[in-house]
Amino acid sequence: MTWDPENSSGLSFDAGTATFADAAAPGADRTLRDPFGRAVTYLRVSVTDRCDFRCVYCMAEQMTFLPRRELLTLEELDRLCTMFVGSGIRKLRITGGEPLVRRGIMTLFRALSRHIASGALDELTLTTNAGRLAEHATELAACGVRRVNISLDTLNEARFRAITRIGDLARVRAGIDAAVAAGLRVKINVVALRGVNDDEIPDLMRWCAGRGFEMTLIEVMPMGEIGGDNRLNQYLPLAALRDRLAEHWTLTPLDVRTGGPARFVRVEELGLRLGFIAPLTHNFCESCNRVRLTCTGQLYLCLGRTESADLRAVLRGDGGDAALAAAIGEAIGRKPKGHDFVIDRDHRTPAVARYMSITGG
Ligand code: SAM
Ligand code: SF4
Repeated sequence: MTWDPENSSGLSFDAGTATFADAAAPGADRTLRDPFGRAVTYLRVSVTDRCDFRCVYCMAEQMTFLPRRELLTLEELDRLCTMFVGSGIRKLRITGGEPLVRRGIMTLFRALSRHIASGALDELTLTTNAGRLAEHATELAACGVRRVNISLDTLNEARFRAITRIGDLARVRAGIDAAVAAGLRVKINVVALRGVNDDEIPDLMRWCAGRGFEMTLIEVMPMGEIGGDNRLNQYLPLAALRDRLAEHWTLTPLDVRTGGPARFVRVEELGLRLGFIAPLTHNFCESCNRVRLTCTGQLYLCLGRTESADLRAVLRGDGGDAALAAAIGEAIGRKPKGHDFVIDRDHRTPAVARYMSITGG
């Protein structure tokens, strides 16, 4: 790697756009705001569309991945993230695909850690399947990562293989242990799949509570063509699941808002903080604080909609930071009010054609 992140450009947001006009002034509000007044403070960055698993709800069995030349380089990713940090992004989540399969990914984490060290960024984190976490947990912690979201839908070996198609549960467990040993706080993401893992959710809750992890249940979202009637078959409304859990445990709603779709309860008997991400049952758009950058530099303004901006073209053009700042400001000015996901018998095709692994979950 030849680029020197210590000296790569900081920001001078005097781009002349309405959004950034005063951003360079001392004491100025550097926050990006969309037309509905929502502050955009959270960027999720997908660093690759590739993965070493093929989860049934996320990918088709045979996937054609993007040619490598389409991807932003690590330097470009750092530059873009740095622009966003300079414009008020306080939380950065690295995701994918599987972020830890991207070659050289630790170079990016090391580079971004300077924003944690300087206090410009509150949080640098990642979402991972943990298959390669054992190799990287210690260094991630050294880069200022404090917590990690790990996707794990079952603790049963055969089921794990059925869900991930090619994943190795032993490696995931080793990755989780390494994260704990490195002092990272762990949240386990569980996609609730009807007839696949719904009977195991109480066990997963006990396991998470026993290890001091948080847990979040996720409703299957209609993203990307995965073949057949899979989504309809997989779809388990979380509202119904929550009612079932409430028959056995005391679920006390928590007044925690993350600016995202998660709603939290405390499971009193287990001492577990449990989140529900249910975009199909609940509309969470009114407090949305986030945008998503794909590995090809497309900025998506809403997970469930198609509005986007091609930041790679601007990044590789001649306009420099000013053009990039203007493009980001223009895009945020188009952030839609909300989405309209539906899964039912009249809506069998995905609401959004791109896969979650492209946009980053
Ligand atoms: N590979 C990493 C992982 O699995 O944690 C990061 C990327 S993955 C796309 C991020 C999250 O999206 C995972 O928790 C995964 O379970 C979730 N996900 C993927 N496809 C989904 C879908 N169609 N509906 C709901 N959640 C999905
Ligand atoms: Fe890979 Fe994550 Fe998608 Fe599973 S959910 S296929 S681990 S990107």
